[in-house]
Amino acid sequence: MPTKDLMLRRQQQRERMARWRARNPARALAQALASNRKSRAADPERYRIYAREYRLAHLTSCPSCGQPKGATAKFCRHCQKGPRSSRWKGGTCLDRGGYRLVRAEGHPRASSKGRYVREHILVMEKRLGRYLYPNERVHHKNGKRDDNRSANLELWIVSQPAGQRVVGILAWAKEIVALYGG
Ligand SMILES: [Zn+2]
Repeated sequence: MPTKDLMLRRQQQRERMARWRARNPARALAQALASNRKSRAADPERYRIYAREYRLAHLTSCPSCGQPKGATAKFCRHCQKGPRSSRWKGGTCLDRGGYRLVRAEGHPRASSKGRYVREHILVMEKRLGRYLYPNERVHHKNGKRDDNRSANLELWIVSQPAGQRVVGILAWAKEIVALYGG
């Protein structure tokens, strides 16, 4: 157990250091990072606890939203997402089926996770000037699922009447003519 006198001296030392850190924030940060590297190698568990306390003591505010962020981070973890992330790959990737996905916030077909839509759908909708109907499919003429050039895409419809009655087929044909103009 440290004596009362020793504890008081340690307290005074901590206060002196705090005042020095307040006067020289940049040097304090550099020094802390340097000593972090040493203590991390010597005692990882203690480093983990220390690093957490250090982060909490050095929170600054996010330039975008004003919420707390780490001292060395550019933005808080909520504002660091998307294009600001160091792992951002342009908002596009391939899905399991080999189709290219693009981020499209607010699109009716946007996935709940990440707000992605298959790019060929967006290209066709841009050409049509409207969203696709549920019975419409976009076909890749050359069979390459990630070749989304407009010239490679074709609009297909998959709806067919359940029965084969002439009246039914005629009604369906009229519907198609009305939709796509003979
Ligand atoms: Zn933020």
